[in-house]
Amino acid sequence: TMAHSKALLVLENFIGGKFVPCSSYIDSYNPSTGDVYCRVPDSGKEEVEAAVKSAKAAFPIWSSKSPLERSQILNKLADLIEHDLEAFAQAESKDQGKTITFARTVDIPRAVYNFRFFASSILHHTTECTEMATMGCVHYTSRAPVGVAGLISPWNLPLYLLTWKIAPAIACGNTVVAKPSEMTSVTAWMMCKLLEKAGVPHGVVNIVFGTGTKAGEALVCHPDVPLISFTGSTLTAQRITEKSAPHCKRLSLELGGKNPAIIFDDADLMQCIPTTLRSSFANQGEICLCTSRIFVQRGIYSEFLKRFVAEAKKWKVGNPSDPTVDVGALISKEHLEKVRSYVKKAQAEGARVLCGEGVDSLALPTGNQKGYFMLPTVIAKVKDESCCMQEEIFGPVTCVVAFDTEEEVIERANSVKYGLAATVWSGNVGRVHRVAQRLQAGLVWTNCWLVRDLNLPFGGMKASGIGREGAKDSYEFFTEVKTITIKH
Ligand code: NAD
Repeated sequence: TMAHSKALLVLENFIGGKFVPCSSYIDSYNPSTGDVYCRVPDSGKEEVEAAVKSAKAAFPIWSSKSPLERSQILNKLADLIEHDLEAFAQAESKDQGKTITFARTVDIPRAVYNFRFFASSILHHTTECTEMATMGCVHYTSRAPVGVAGLISPWNLPLYLLTWKIAPAIACGNTVVAKPSEMTSVTAWMMCKLLEKAGVPHGVVNIVFGTGTKAGEALVCHPDVPLISFTGSTLTAQRITEKSAPHCKRLSLELGGKNPAIIFDDADLMQCIPTTLRSSFANQGEICLCTSRIFVQRGIYSEFLKRFVAEAKKWKVGNPSDPTVDVGALISKEHLEKVRSYVKKAQAEGARVLCGEGVDSLALPTGNQKGYFMLPTVIAKVKDESCCMQEEIFGPVTCVVAFDTEEEVIERANSVKYGLAATVWSGNVGRVHRVAQRLQAGLVWTNCWLVRDLNLPFGGMKASGIGREGAKDSYEFFTEVKTITIKH
């Protein structure tokens, strides 16, 4: 084909400190042009077996290093990624479809920070100690790395989420076998080139590229991988839970969301509107924390909607490498079709599409005509039972509905299967506290969105996940605890 006649980027697995070719490959598309531009190893059992073997072999040495030694290596790796920040950002944008601006200011800086953060936090943990004076005993807890960690990450924030797992796993002294999404593997492969220079011993970080059903399941089913940290969809998490059950693996599952924004009539709309636009449409709406149900109190509903739609129409969709563009391409043709189908279903149910898909026209630059683009879309007059209000769409689509009372909105906000994040907008401190306490969500942001302190737990309730990640939580997940009793 035309696409294949151009020189394609060919990735290789990274096993035991070496790049290893694979016997078969998967095509990877540039979402902003629709062209195949990269070939990703289609790894399976054999490749996973080799990677687990090298991770196992590297474990004794890596786990016996002091936290300070590991910390220095993580910091070095952070510096090396930061040094190449622009190249990483370009690659992430091309591979994922996100804007260069987003990759440059969010994805790659956060990947760097993930290593710096865990390089520091690993130095500050303390364990517990209790005394039983009458028995002449002291008890203390001791934590040790578990072994080979299996890490599986999604396509929306590729290097950001992969490093959010690799950094704590290796900081704690585990060795890892990671499998990024087959749709966004390039930046992980680029990072492999820096590991040796950073001083990461061979076999500590192994990356096996490929699909979920082949490479991912081989990792999940491998008897020598006692823990799996997974970020992705709820459906895949169910499959991983089933497949890992015979081995009783330790699982951390960071899954989807259907996140509400609750906007009371005393909200500061000057802050609320721009932030809610970002929380709905940032990264094409492809962030698990994105808002997709906006509840606005009746008194300000019309005004909010008018201003929100007017601002949404200003978001520029187009070539992700154009610095003036706000919305890049969606990850794939299939995903674009899926997101669009939700808008059609809403219309069929009688909802009103106020801007975006199907109502406004999308003009794309010549080179991007075959890209997977879509306008930010706002839906109103939609019922709470509608699939658009219940299911995760994971695209630039948000629903706006009215509510009357605090009690009512809490119940409606909680009436979905997910429980990842929520935002609450109000100038009334008492109300903000009350509502935040009662929302079923692992994260509640009031009068802001996506402000994260990595020290604190991150994760979802209900169908949004099991377990939490963060300084202490990741440390606990990636280590095994033992209680030791000493009697004099
Ligand atoms: P996905 O579940 O399809 O895939 C995620 C990863 O799992 C990929 O690497 C994939 O190859 C792998 N995988 C797929 N099937 C597998 C199997 N049977 N066994 C092992 N691995 C398998 O998710 P996605 O479409 O890549 O990502 C989007 C989803 O991720 C959304 O639902 C989003 O909300 C969620 N997400 C959650 C968070 C969070 O922190 N809670 C963050 C980002 C994304």
